[in-house]
Amino acid sequence: MPMPLEIVEGPAIVGGAREWENRGWFPPGPQLAICLSGGKQHLADLTDDELLQVAAAARRQTSWAQARELAAIAELAQRRIATETAETAEGPDYRTLTACESVTEEVAAALTVTGNTAATLVHLAERLTGPLAETGDALESGRIDMAKARVISDITDDLPDQVIARVQAAALDKASVQTTGQLRRRIKRIVQRLAPEAAEERRQQAVRHRRLELWDTTSGTTDLALCDLPPEDAHGIFNKITAAAHGLKTEGDTRPLHLIRADLAAHLLNGAPLPTAARAVLTQATPRDDGTTDDGTVAEPTPPATSPAAGARDTARRGGLAVLPPAGGLAVLPPAGGLGATAADDDPALPGVAAMVNQRLTHLRDRTPAAELPAAVSRTVRQIRHRLASQRDALCQGDGERHGRPGYRPPAELRREIEARHATCVFPTCNQPSPRCDLDHTVPWRPGITCRCNLAPLCRRHHRVKQTPGWGLHHVWPGLLIWTTPSGAWYIVHPERQ
Ligand SMILES: [Zn+2]
Ligand SMILES: [Zn+2]
Repeated sequence: MPMPLEIVEGPAIVGGAREWENRGWFPPGPQLAICLSGGKQHLADLTDDELLQVAAAARRQTSWAQARELAAIAELAQRRIATETAETAEGPDYRTLTACESVTEEVAAALTVTGNTAATLVHLAERLTGPLAETGDALESGRIDMAKARVISDITDDLPDQVIARVQAAALDKASVQTTGQLRRRIKRIVQRLAPEAAEERRQQAVRHRRLELWDTTSGTTDLALCDLPPEDAHGIFNKITAAAHGLKTEGDTRPLHLIRADLAAHLLNGAPLPTAARAVLTQATPRDDGTTDDGTVAEPTPPATSPAAGARDTARRGGLAVLPPAGGLAVLPPAGGLGATAADDDPALPGVAAMVNQRLTHLRDRTPAAELPAAVSRTVRQIRHRLASQRDALCQGDGERHGRPGYRPPAELRREIEARHATCVFPTCNQPSPRCDLDHTVPWRPGITCRCNLAPLCRRHHRVKQTPGWGLHHVWPGLLIWTTPSGAWYIVHPERQ
C-alpha cells in the first residue's frame, strides 16, 4: 500500500538543510531509532514544525516496536499450540490450561501485565499474523498505531473470512488519516453494509453478556457501570434520570447536571422510589455552613450512614457532595494487607534465600543450552528446596508452634496468617484478593503438610497454571515462592510484595 505522502508538508527551510527536513514519512526501524536518539537538549534546536515531525516519527517507531512485540508473542503462541496438538490427542484436561491460556500467563508474567491484557495481546498477535496480516503490516510500517490495529481487530472479530478481508481493505484505505473514533464509526458502517446479519448476531451476543461491573479507581473512588445493555434500554434509563435531574434543577438544585444525575441514580439503585430519591437529592443538594439550602429551608440531616464527624469530613473532601449510605450487597472486600506482621515478614533470612536462588538460576541460565533450560531451572529450584529442608523446618518450629497441623483444612488463625502474608494470589501479576482464593498446599497434601511453609493463596486460574505441564511452583522458604515457566523463566514471589 502506498504511503499517504499527500498529508506531509515539507518543513520550512531555515538557514539551509535541517535535520528533520523531508523526513515526514521516514520509515520506522533501526535507522529512524538513530535519528530519534539525540539528547533531549537537542530538541531545543529544532523548529516547531520539526518538533511535530519528531513526535510523529516517534509514534511510527512505537508502532513498529509494537508490531515486533506482537510478532514475538505470535511466534511463541504458535510454537506452544503446535506442541499441544501433537501431545494432546486424547482431549482437553480441565485441571490444566490450554496452550493458548498457558502462553497468555507466560506473557503476563514476562511483560508484567494483567491476565486480561495478556489475553488481548495474544489474541491480537494471532489475528495480526493471520487473517489481519495486512493490518499487521500497516502497524509495522507505522501507517497506523496500536489503537487503530485494535479497533480493526475488535470490530472484525467473529466475522466471516471473506467479509474480514473486505472490511480490512476498506479500513486501511483511510486509517492513517482517521482518528480511532472516526475509524471505528466507519468500520461499523462498512460491517453493517457488508454483513448485517453478523453485526446483529454480534449485538445480541454482547447483550447476552450484559452485567453490572465495579472497579476501584486511582482517586480512591469506585466506579459502577451497567455494561452491554440494549441501546434502547440504556438510553431510556439515561434520559429518564436526566429528565428527573432537570426537574430538580428547576426546584432549586444548583449543582451541575452530572452530579445530580449521579446522586439520583445512586439513590434509585439503593432501592428508593423516584419521588423519595428526588426529595433526598434535593435535601442534600447544597447544604450551607448554617445548615440551610438555597431555597432558605433548613437542611435535613443526611442519612445516618456515617457519624456526623465522618459525614462532615466526607462532605468537605467531596466538595459539598452528600455522602450516600453504602449500597447493601455491593461492598468490596477490604484490602487484605496490613493485618499485622507475621513471622515471615520479619524473617531476616528470607532476602538472603531469595538472592541465593536468583543468583543460582542466573548462573544456570548463562551456561545452559536453551532447549534444556526449562527442565534445568525446575530441577535446580527443587534441589535448593530439598537442601533447605532442615533449616526451613527449624525456622517453622522455632517460635513455639507445631510445624504442620493435623488435617487438610488450615485452621482459621493459620488462614489469617497466610492471607496477611500474601494479600493476593501468589501469581506474580494476579490481583485476586487472598480471601477470594483457595489456600493451596504447594506440595499436595500428604506428603505435603498443612503449615505456613506449604500454604499460599492461589486463585482458580493460577491453580490450573500450577498444574499445567511445564509450569512449577516451589515453596523454598516460608512465604517465599518460586514460579518456573515453560520457557525457563522464573519469578520469585516475596511475602511483602504488596
Ligand atoms: Zn512449617
Ligand atoms: Zn491468581
